[in-house]
Amino acid sequence: MRPTREMPRTGDLAPHKESLAAIREDTRRERLLDMERRMRRYRAGCFAILAVALASVAPQVGWGWLAPLAVGFCGFPLADRFMRNSKQPWRWIAGAWGALPLLIAASVVATGGPASPAIMLFSLPAVTLGARFDPWGMAVGTVYILALFLASTVAIDPASAAEYSQWLVAGVALILSTVILSGALVESDRAHRRRSTLDPLTGLFNRNALEQRLGELDGQPCNAEIGPSHALLLCDLDHFKRVNDELGHAAGDIVLQEVAYTMRAALRAGDSIYRVGGEEILAVLPGANEADAVEIAERLRNEVRDRRPTGTAVTVSIGVAVSRSGVVDTDELVSKADAALYTAKATGRDRVVVGNAAATANA
Ligand code: GH3
Ligand code: MG
Ligand code: MG
Repeated sequence: MRPTREMPRTGDLAPHKESLAAIREDTRRERLLDMERRMRRYRAGCFAILAVALASVAPQVGWGWLAPLAVGFCGFPLADRFMRNSKQPWRWIAGAWGALPLLIAASVVATGGPASPAIMLFSLPAVTLGARFDPWGMAVGTVYILALFLASTVAIDPASAAEYSQWLVAGVALILSTVILSGALVESDRAHRRRSTLDPLTGLFNRNALEQRLGELDGQPCNAEIGPSHALLLCDLDHFKRVNDELGHAAGDIVLQEVAYTMRAALRAGDSIYRVGGEEILAVLPGANEADAVEIAERLRNEVRDRRPTGTAVTVSIGVAVSRSGVVDTDELVSKADAALYTAKATGRDRVVVGNAAATANA
């Protein structure tokens, strides 16, 4: 059990905006890692196509491209391994991305400079620029690609560059239009994802995202011998209607935001958290057994109570469900967590109850 984020301090109202920023930062990190995971499959295919294409023209251009391509092929999986464990995976992603134009430049130099057919390959890093960086990073990346393009063509052989000027102009146009078009596509995808998977009030994932996550968990093996168990925590704020009645709806919203941040910060790195209703929040804890789940649930309960958002006493009841041996059935898990939450409410609130088990601590 390792809480990986810094815990928020109690009674401190100021970090409210910072808290939401922290949630978004986490979401960004998760999105980046998810995107790298999805691209991995296709990247190997692209390297294979490149190798075949360049090998087919090797009699004319030689084999100078082989070493840079091999370095790229081995370098990306290496960066993948480090980025998964890194708190700032974009550093690894930027490093791996930045190496690609360098390797292409080396291939271009080795296969004829301005006359090399490999100059069109500079559009490859341009394709993925938008998916990895913000507009400022995209501008810097474009300048970087163009600088290497010119260094590996015009700078090393100005005479041939003049001869192949049409070739080079077409290369520059291809790089620029690829950056612009791929950036526009990524921006539209990002806006769509934000709308479809994030709750605008708390910055937590919403029900759409939960459906996707449960779909991934469904059918996974869960047994001490063949795989870990997984747990759900269904959390509902106690007497939240009273908070609204006493403080007003706007203050109620701030309380919800603070509670959401407090819970998010108390989870482990691989856990995910969703706003599933007005003041109902669900956490998915992959690989957690009952003891882990209860420990995390108690931590959430205590952190929420100690936080006192906007100076108000707020407590949470939590229903815990842990997968049984066999394969994960998320429908069963959700109803087990629901029943446990109902018991927590019925037996006094501000407590953690495990599905099909007796109530645990109440402070
Ligand atoms: P219990 O302990 O039984 O859960 O009591 P409760 O008052 O929390 O439960 P109930 O379901 O009766 O009320 C939930 C309240 O949550 C009612 C609603 O006004 C409030 N609520 C739901 N969504 C929002 C929201 O987005 N903002 C605010 N401020 N309040 C919300
Ligand atoms: Mg409720
Ligand atoms: Mg409630």
